[in-house]
Amino acid sequence: MKINVIGCSGAEFPGHNAPGFLLDDEILLDAGSLTNTLDEKAQLKIRHIFITHAHLDHIRSIPFLADNIVVGKKHSKITIYSISPVIRTIKKHLFNSAVWPDFTIIPNPGDAILNLVSLKAAEPVIVDGYTITPYKVNHTVPAVGYLVEDMKGKSFFYTGDTGPTAGTWKKIKNRKLNCLIIDVSFPDSMRELAVRTGHLTPGLLQEEMGAFHQAPEHICITHPKPQYFRTIKKELEALGMKNLTILKDGDIIRI
Ligand SMILES: [Zn+2]
Ligand SMILES: [Zn+2]
Repeated sequence: MKINVIGCSGAEFPGHNAPGFLLDDEILLDAGSLTNTLDEKAQLKIRHIFITHAHLDHIRSIPFLADNIVVGKKHSKITIYSISPVIRTIKKHLFNSAVWPDFTIIPNPGDAILNLVSLKAAEPVIVDGYTITPYKVNHTVPAVGYLVEDMKGKSFFYTGDTGPTAGTWKKIKNRKLNCLIIDVSFPDSMRELAVRTGHLTPGLLQEEMGAFHQAPEHICITHPKPQYFRTIKKELEALGMKNLTILKDGDIIRI
């Protein structure tokens, strides 16, 4: 598995892109970054987009991708997957013919550019040989993380945005993850805000790790707020976890 980190920032500034993780060119986990980071050829390879939750920094590139497909007279069709509250929000508030044209019925309802698919938590779908399962996480809006497993038994879990979420780890506790891509947005001095807004700090990450029977082989940190990056980095390093990497935009994760 090759994951291209096209964005992993918890806020947007030049050089800091919103979350987008591209798996083997065709499957995207979250669409905060896509049209602002990939050229047209790479954009048109994408067939499946799995969304963790409907916050703007995780969905904002979908409208631009749909527009690029139409304007470029391309014939790509994209399937957007998430749990039903997220799909409903995307349809009602984004593709509503007011904020943006409704690409779920363009060019026509039976053959639209975007196909929205509702998933049930803990029920897997199989896409391109990968088994992808949404598990609920703890954020301020309905949100899931995704467990992605390939046919050789390799796996990773991407949390999207989450605060402490012991229930999620209970559900996947028997799996040995090759990689955990997990939200750490704030430094420990902002723990109360992190919990209130459904995010983690380095200290909260350490507490979450206590719930794992088998520690993930690698832990990759996503979504840090650039304004606090130095402090977050120092605090993460102080945890002394040798298998921990703080992701940067443009990184490639190989599993
Ligand atoms: Zn969020
Ligand atoms: Zn976010």
